[in-house]
Amino acid sequence: MTIDLPIVPRPGTAAPTHRRIAVLSAHTSPLAAAGGRESGGMNVYVRELSRELGARGYRVDVFTRRTSPEAPDVQPIGPNARVVQIDAGPPALIEKDAIAGHLAEFEANILACTEREALSYDLVHSHYWMSGWAGMRLARRWHVRHVAMFHTLGEVKNRARITEHETVERIDVERAIATTADAVVVASEHERQLLTSLYGADAARMHLVPCGVDLDLFTPLDKEEARRRLQLRDGERIILFVGRIEPLKGIDVLIGAAAQLHDDENFRVLIVGGDARADAEIAQLRSLAERLGVEHHIAFVGAVAHDALPLYYNAADVCVVPSYYESFGMVAVESMACGTPVVASRVGGLASTISDGETGYLISWRCPEPFAERLELLLDNDELRASFGRAAREAVERFRWANVADAVAVLYEQLSAPATETPDAIVPGSLRRLP
Ligand code: UDP
Repeated sequence: MTIDLPIVPRPGTAAPTHRRIAVLSAHTSPLAAAGGRESGGMNVYVRELSRELGARGYRVDVFTRRTSPEAPDVQPIGPNARVVQIDAGPPALIEKDAIAGHLAEFEANILACTEREALSYDLVHSHYWMSGWAGMRLARRWHVRHVAMFHTLGEVKNRARITEHETVERIDVERAIATTADAVVVASEHERQLLTSLYGADAARMHLVPCGVDLDLFTPLDKEEARRRLQLRDGERIILFVGRIEPLKGIDVLIGAAAQLHDDENFRVLIVGGDARADAEIAQLRSLAERLGVEHHIAFVGAVAHDALPLYYNAADVCVVPSYYESFGMVAVESMACGTPVVASRVGGLASTISDGETGYLISWRCPEPFAERLELLLDNDELRASFGRAAREAVERFRWANVADAVAVLYEQLSAPATETPDAIVPGSLRRLP
């Protein structure tokens, strides 16, 4: 396979940066459609950031685990940016937990590929703990800096919801990454605090870069037209959920809240997201809705292409993000960008993107009643929704992907000095159960 591509200069500049960035996205690909069980914000993030950095002249290779024998070895995703498939374990979708057992192969095959193709990199940028594990080792091998981003933290998931059981291995690896990476990109101040308090990371090496939103795609549209296109019934109030279908997203709380709304309410809860791998979770949610007698109000729509989501946000009266934890919460920002107010849990990044009582409502308790109370308030008051919606759109103007890429590029340039020798302690003995 030949994977060299010509350098495209940054628009409007004579001299492109020639820096080469190895982006690691082991467990899920930026090419995967968001909204599956394992594909969501991180996929969108890696894709959009890579495109923006490529447009600035960085040469970005995103290494991901091959999940299909047919996937081309190399696929461009924008100028100077491409996805490289790496064999590691079966070329099929497998349980996320099983991927940890193939990380050594992932790392070894990246090394084999880059040696074969004579590719070298100036920096490694890893996403999620699995890639971070490979990132620590590759950066040491290549004598380059390692930038890590977690997206979610095992320790936080364990604390956020008793049914979550993230492994000791994950927590150990996260601690190793947090304390040894040259820089950690955090999406919120809250994430920075967690990394320092839970993992003992050095706050000075954390760089706060909020996530982004495509403000041209996610924009206010004519609500009636959006509803017509989605064939929604006239006069029906629409409550929207968008996201991966997994327990941490708190869809059970939303269904519970729907059951608290006045029964004569003419409303529908649209639940967007989920693929065949989310079937068991969806079946449980359906039976919860039946037990609560609200199944006729709930519609499971399945995953919707990212580009088609603006129609849903615009058709909705309110978007609900009832998560037990969100490190950033891109769905809330996308909804706000469309001018649709959000009722969200007061957790993680949501607490900094939503202003309670101005652009939406923040709920401190993960139980249905307060969500139902705020939903009724908004659904009954057209003016309140409109004024929250206008304020919401204004509030998210700062989250353009271009701003995210600018901040990350500044970080890359700060780190461009040669890396110092990395201590051997970088791969702790407690990772024995990983390959
Ligand atoms: N998403 C999508 N189609 C769907 C469901 C979700 O494109 O059917 C996208 C959504 O637009 C958002 C991302 O998946 O960009 C979810 O990101 P978020 O930060 O809200 O949650 P995460 O997946 O990171 O937990």
